[in-house]
Formats: sequence, structure tokens, C-alpha cells
Amino acid sequence: MRIINVFANDTELSQKTKKLLKQKLEKSGFFVPQEYDLNAELIICIGGDGSFLETLHKYNFPSIPFIGVNTGHLGFFQEVYPDGLDEFIFKYKQGKYETQHLKTLKAEVTTAEGKQEFMGLNEILIKGVKSRPIHLNISIGDSFIERFSGDGILVATPAGSTAYNYSLGGSIVDPRLSLLQVTPIAPMNTTAYRSFTSSLILPPYLSIRVNPEYSEHKRKGMLIVSDGMEHFLQEAEEIIFEFSNSIIKLLRFDNSDFWTKVKSKFI
Ligand code: NAP
Ligand code: MN
Repeated sequence: MRIINVFANDTELSQKTKKLLKQKLEKSGFFVPQEYDLNAELIICIGGDGSFLETLHKYNFPSIPFIGVNTGHLGFFQEVYPDGLDEFIFKYKQGKYETQHLKTLKAEVTTAEGKQEFMGLNEILIKGVKSRPIHLNISIGDSFIERFSGDGILVATPAGSTAYNYSLGGSIVDPRLSLLQVTPIAPMNTTAYRSFTSSLILPPYLSIRVNPEYSEHKRKGMLIVSDGMEHFLQEAEEIIFEFSNSIIKLLRFDNSDFWTKVKSKFI
């Protein structure tokens, strides 16, 4: 039996599209279960990029390939449109697609209680709480490079370079490159505080180590946000960012060049 998981966000169009897609898939010989099925050959997310990212996190970065149906706003990850369902099923059955492999990122947080791991496809960022700046000692590989002061730092993958990273003045990265980008969020640069103001571009084998400084005040909390999902950290001693071993597979049909897509979505 060929199983396909189908998920949709709550909008009317997404729900309508989900119903229609389920009918069409079942007519073509696929089975669409009610609940997430581990043995599925494909996961279809109906919505925007946010719904895709949410599904990814909910099911723990599965190795099953994804395809998105865009009923959202931007849909940078979303390949199919609601009026293209028949064409999608036809091409899928014929195997007329390519699979794009996207590297993911992890942040390992050490607290007094132990270690905790967070995953991201777009980015993982850390920032202060209560609109306060934070102070972070940052090392790359084995070298200490700066004591950062500002709102926080964001570590972006190539896939996430066009998201929050881009709004912060970070660079758009061609997905054929394997690199991590550390982008400052409102860095302070005065005689009191000195921080790099541009993104740092790093090779895939170097990790980024962050040791927060809490000396000035008793405010020990901070926020860690992965792909838009926020978590509060009470007392992080160290955070290490690096590529994770999980690879996300995305089906691509129209072979469109990355830069053509950037142009069509951004300008
Ligand atoms: P959202 O409130 O819908 O806003 C995020 C926007 O970024 C949406 O238009 C979303 O597309 C788009 N987006 C997501 N991933 C992208 C990518 N890889 N390349 C280009 N655009 C992308 O939030 P969301 O849908 O939950 O998405 C979460 C992402 O929002 C986070 O990973 C973060 O990168 C981004 N974000 C951006 C800012 C900012 O730019 N100032 C602030 C916070 C978070 P859809 O419209 O299709 O959802
Ligand atoms: Mn969204």
C-alpha cells in the first residue's frame, strides 16, 4: 500500500484543498491516513512556509520526503498550487521530480540541569528577555572572537538565508553552498560595547560556541527561537550551534533555478 500523509493549516482554502487532494490521491491508488503514519512515502503540507516548518518540527525532522501546497502568503518552500493538484499527482506517479536535500541546524544548550537540543531548518536564534540587550561570548571553532552585545544573534542555514536572516541584513545564500551564517541582531557598537556588525560566513565543519554573560544583572533568562518557535531558557551556560545530521528532502517539479525563484518571490 502506498501511504501519503496530508496535513493542512486551519484556513478555509487549506481545509478545502486537503479534502480535494485526499479524494484525488485515493482515486489514484494512494492511501491517506487520518493520523501521521511512519510508513508513508511522502508528506504533503498545505499552507504557507510556516505550516511546512511546523509539520517538520511536530514530527521531529523525519526522513520521509516533503512537498508543499501553497495556500499561504509567500510559500518559499511550497512547490505546488491548489489548481495544480492533478498535474502534481500525474508527475509524482511517473517519478518526474527531483529531490532537493536541505541541511538542518542544531543548537545544543547546556544548563545546570543537563543538555537540551533544538533543531532548525531556517535558523536558530538567541536573544534577551524583556527587551534587554544580552552579552554573549562567541567562539568559532577553538577561537574566541568577540563579546557580542545587542539584541541577539541568529544562525541561518542556506535554506533559511532568505527568511529572518535576510530581514536583518544577512546575505542570500545559493543553496548549492554548504555554510552557516551568523547574523547579529541589532549589535551595539560604541566605546562601551564592541560587536561585529556584519554576518560571519562559516564553513560547515566549524561550530559556533556561545557563552552568555550574566554578570551585570541578575537577569539570567534568554530566548531560543528555532524556525519561529520560541522557548525560554532559564540559565544557559553554553550553546553550541552546528549542522545536524538530519537532512530534509523536498520534492521539486518545475526545475526552476534558485535565483529565478528569489526574483519572483522578492522583487
Ligand atoms: P510568518 O509570521 O508567516 O512570517 C515569516 C515570513 O517569512 C512568511 O512570509 C513566510 O512565508 C516567510 N518564510 C519562512 N521561511 C522562509 C524562507 N526559508 N525563505 C523566505 N521566506 C520564508 O512566520 P512563519 O510562517 O511561521 O515562518 C517562520 C519564519 O519566520 C522563521 O523561520 C523566521 O525566518 C521568519 N521570521 C522573520 C522575521 C522577519 O523577517 N523580521 C521575524 C520573525 C520570524 P509564508 O508567508 O509562506 O508563511
Ligand atoms: Mn507564515
